[in-house]
Amino acid sequence: MAVCKECKNFKPLKQSDLDYAEGKGDCFLPQQDEKCKYWTLRPVKEDMPACDRFEKK
Ligand code: SF4
Repeated sequence: MAVCKECKNFKPLKQSDLDYAEGKGDCFLPQQDEKCKYWTLRPVKEDMPACDRFEKK
């Protein structure tokens, strides 16, 4: 089963980040509404099961 760390939307946290912890990252997802394109960010862990927006790196 695919996991978040295999997805191109997964960005691992850096050790200098305040909330750094092993395996933590952010999911940056492109969104589009009628006016503009934007990104949403949510915290994820690298071993979480992939969601339906998974895109292979
Ligand atoms: S939550 Fe979905 S889109 Fe985000 S990193 Fe994980 S698999 Fe990718």
